[in-house]
Amino acid sequence: MGARYPPKIRKKIEEIKKLSKKKYRCPKCDMDAVVRVQVGIWRCKKCNYKFAGPAYYL
Ligand SMILES: [Zn+2]
Repeated sequence: MGARYPPKIRKKIEEIKKLSKKKYRCPKCDMDAVVRVQVGIWRCKKCNYKFAGPAYYL
């Protein structure tokens, strides 16, 4: 009891969090400027292209 997730899963969640903060390549302008704005929604900072994608990382 106490911890919400077993250590193994918690580590995985940390990895996903890290990945979700990374910048990704925009499929439209090809710049590494895509950031996650919310779960499943991604936006390119250069061209403002917004698209649905995987929840946490591309
Ligand atoms: Zn773009």
